[in-house]
Amino acid sequence: MIKGFGLHTGVFSEVHFHPAEGPVRFRLNKTEIEARVNNVVSTERCTVLGKDGKTLAVVEHLLAALHVLGWWQNLLIEVSDRELPILDGSAQDWLEPLSQLGKPPQPPDAFVLKEPLDVNLDSSRLRASPGKAQLKVAINFDHPMIGEQQWSGLPEQYPEVLAARTFGFLHELEYLRSKGLASQASLENAIVFDEKGALQALRFDNEPVRHKALDALGDLYLFGQPLSASLTIERGSHHLHVAFVKHLATLLESHETP
Ligand SMILES: [Zn+2]
Repeated sequence: MIKGFGLHTGVFSEVHFHPAEGPVRFRLNKTEIEARVNNVVSTERCTVLGKDGKTLAVVEHLLAALHVLGWWQNLLIEVSDRELPILDGSAQDWLEPLSQLGKPPQPPDAFVLKEPLDVNLDSSRLRASPGKAQLKVAINFDHPMIGEQQWSGLPEQYPEVLAARTFGFLHELEYLRSKGLASQASLENAIVFDEKGALQALRFDNEPVRHKALDALGDLYLFGQPLSASLTIERGSHHLHVAFVKHLATLLESHETP
């Protein structure tokens, strides 16, 4: 079991994991919500799933941990309130309760991308090319301690991004709070940058871009199966990742429909 406060809504929630036949899904009160892209209801600042009027925010970090562990089915995740705990802002604290469940079930076959697929949204861009699974992520922030950063890796290296924390800027906090977001943001659960630098020690020089890779792995998990393709993401966002997964889901459907 894992419990804690949510970053955006501030609600306190408890999360219990139950091995259970079927797709990976959340249960919030009596509503079950599959961890699938068709259940995404918002991508503003985080990824929110919803069904029958119930919503569950900030699913991406837990889903990144499941992605990295290769856990694609037979799991029921019971959640007591509408946002997952932010914990330390990374995905590392999800690994322990998941490892207690034992070995993940046999993963489904990877979907093999046959043609390049590009998604562009504003200044962000995702390019998927046929080939072995790999991920390249680049960001470019006009900030002395971030600037241009890159991270790339094969699936064996994906665990390297799980400890990277979410990050934000001091000047944004007031704005987010005025919108009712990030109500629980603190140095305990996010890297905060002011004009000069980070207010706390970084775990990696390129921790921000590693966190972007983590977010991408979480959102890509919403496809429901591994993807065999080489992905390059520039200035990614939840919006971009989810738009890409929706394209993939359409491709998959057209492959399955004779
Ligand atoms: Zn994140």
